[in-house]
Amino acid sequence: MQVSTLPPLISMPVLAMQQVFTHHDSALIGLLDGILKESGIPTLLKNWTGSNIVEIPIPSLYPSIFVLDNAHAAEAREIIETYLNHSETARPDWDCPNCHSPVDGYLGECWSCQALRPT
Ligand SMILES: [Zn+2]
Repeated sequence: MQVSTLPPLISMPVLAMQQVFTHHDSALIGLLDGILKESGIPTLLKNWTGSNIVEIPIPSLYPSIFVLDNAHAAEAREIIETYLNHSETARPDWDCPNCHSPVDGYLGECWSCQALRPT
């Protein structure tokens, strides 16, 4: 009888995964995860369903973004912070009071008639 000898378990490198962001909004998590991946940072999502419908009132079950390599944690946090700060200051789209054209939020004047954004 042959005793099958299992090869020694290949020792997995202990991944120093680190949570860099958690939020109850799955859509935001998915968005930020995409930005991080585009930046070349390998990530892992936990508790993420891809659905933005259910809000779980338990912080430990919020969708979370982890970086697979601890070394990326600071960079990832910076990218996330930059994004969040940017979207907080991003101005909403507006309607021109002069010609009633819809104008993108980043424009300070109407693209159509050059009227200034109302304050
Ligand atoms: Zn206008």
